Amino acid sequence: MKRKKLNTNHLQMIYNISDDVYNGKLRRVEGVNILSENIKEHKSGSHGMYIDDYKYLRDAIPYGRNMGKDILDCFLRNITNEYGLDALRNALISTYKHIINYYNKTQIKQNSDRKIGKYYADKYNIDLDFSERIFENIYDDNEEVYINLININSNLSDASGKYLTKPKKIITSSRYERNIKTSVSALKAAGYRCELNNNHVTFIRKTNNQPYTEPHHLVPMKYQKQFKVDLDVENNIVSLCSTCHNKLHYGKNFEKDLKTLYESHKHLLEMAGIYITFQELLSMYD
Ligand SMILES: [Zn+2]
Ligand SMILES: [Zn+2]
Repeated sequence: MKRKKLNTNHLQMIYNISDDVYNGKLRRVEGVNILSENIKEHKSGSHGMYIDDYKYLRDAIPYGRNMGKDILDCFLRNITNEYGLDALRNALISTYKHIINYYNKTQIKQNSDRKIGKYYADKYNIDLDFSERIFENIYDDNEEVYINLININSNLSDASGKYLTKPKKIITSSRYERNIKTSVSALKAAGYRCELNNNHVTFIRKTNNQPYTEPHHLVPMKYQKQFKVDLDVENNIVSLCSTCHNKLHYGKNFEKDLKTLYESHKHLLEMAGIYITFQELLSMYD
């Protein structure tokens, strides 16, 4: 269903209310009520979503739905004016991750959000690439996409750096936020080689001058609930070349590769408290 267009007053009101809720001046339920009374042409559920989207922007967490260019533009403009460039950068990281996640999940390119992001990144010289390249190197099920953010996060200020070292678990719809650092050290530990075959040829990654490989969670993160221990740990992450990685996710006859990785990592998994048979693991790869 197409959302009704919001006029400028409505947009500004959504920002003001969302900002008050974010800053603890207003409870969320009060904010939703005010918006529901004033913006009647919208379904009541969407009022709360705006408030939540705003929080995600401020906390650099990817939001879950296509926000729409008017409200995103309004949020980014106000964040910049009121809170400055660090806050804008957080909001753009949220947007950036959202676009990747969404593409990942749906294969739909959110070009309207991308263009707004690009406008602000260009205008304020923020080092996030919102060009069409954002849709490259995307892997499935939201597992490893954040690896592309490494270079950005290393430049983050203290406030945002906290986000890196203390990742927020649980986000929306039972997906789990991955700790970028864990993936990075897993690749490093593997010597930036493909763990299925050391000789697989890759190329040099721009951001760290090391051979490009991709982190893959051997026991997929979406099964986190079945384990008492954290699955987002180095021992559960293998380093793979793009071809091997994609084969595991999309390829025919991937079982032999999975078996190889299972055998070479079984011990590491157990050291991390992850006990699983090969059959169980295989059943997670449908
Ligand atoms: Zn993977
Ligand atoms: Zn490989």
